[in-house]
Amino acid sequence: MIFRQLFDSVSGTYSYLIASRRGAEALIIDPVLEKVDRYIQLMNDLDLRLVKAVDTHLHADHVTGLGALRDRTRCITVMGENTKADVVSMRLADGDKLDIEGVSLNVIYTPGHTDDSYSFALDDRVFTGDTLLIRGTGRTDFQNGDARAQYDSIFNRLLKLPNDTLVYPAHDYKGDTVSTIGEEKRCNPRLQVKCVDEYVELMNNLKLPNPKMMDVAVPANMRIGLAQDAVAQRGWAVLAGDAVELLGRPEIALVDLREKSERERHGTIPGALHEPYPKLRDNLGTGGLLRALGTSRRIVFYCAYGERSAMAVQAAQEAGITSVCHIQGGIAAWKAAGGPIEQ
Ligand code: FE
Repeated sequence: MIFRQLFDSVSGTYSYLIASRRGAEALIIDPVLEKVDRYIQLMNDLDLRLVKAVDTHLHADHVTGLGALRDRTRCITVMGENTKADVVSMRLADGDKLDIEGVSLNVIYTPGHTDDSYSFALDDRVFTGDTLLIRGTGRTDFQNGDARAQYDSIFNRLLKLPNDTLVYPAHDYKGDTVSTIGEEKRCNPRLQVKCVDEYVELMNNLKLPNPKMMDVAVPANMRIGLAQDAVAQRGWAVLAGDAVELLGRPEIALVDLREKSERERHGTIPGALHEPYPKLRDNLGTGGLLRALGTSRRIVFYCAYGERSAMAVQAAQEAGITSVCHIQGGIAAWKAAGGPIEQ
């Protein structure tokens, strides 16, 4: 496995680049906007193709690199289902898997620092975001933070992982890079409490100043969605209400770009083909399925919220396949428009 811990010294943020091998798909956790050039350079050096950019939660201390990475690499942006970010390509829930080629992380909902905080567990290690830090825990006094929920997330979820599980947090301000669950159980001063009430009391009396970047970072991180308008202005989008009228027409090929787990959870549009977004490049290439399909039919892409499908339309147009469009707003908009769903 390729594993790189990257540091932004301005915000004290750790970002993590993960891939199964050289030449494979990669994902990055908690990228920082100012470091995007560095990440892209490193991925080129390692011959990696970024498929997913993931935030553990909506950050208050730095602007996320999710939007910039998506715009530059057409990767899928991923956050938890509770996020207040306007649009991400894919939302995960507790118990889901965060998958790329050869790597599968377990998604654990760990609210407390914020109400959209998630941790991601991979075999011998766990990415804890700001829920569990090295010898600390994330503050719980803004962004719908909740010390009681955090106690539950830490004691009843994260600390139940094996003691030798490596802990990789989203931040460190002291120079530590990694810890273990067992070490934090024994040595983290915030965890040496007898009960939840004692923890709540401790967390509610920290009296920390707000992060310097908070007034900039939070609003910026809530508006990271792809500008789907730009795709629509070129005539490459159909509104969900109009797309319903296309259903069953022989000249139309509906193509679902979501993953299997999303289809199972949220249902599908009847009659749609399933071609997951990470396969797009191959599918649009010479001999690719979508290239062949595009010669005889009008391809209508859709996904969860319209991001992957908007990027797919752009990629198809660039590949010379011009009879394509997408459903703006994805299956979320389709459902809102009363379109039929197959479970
Ligand atoms: Fe945070």
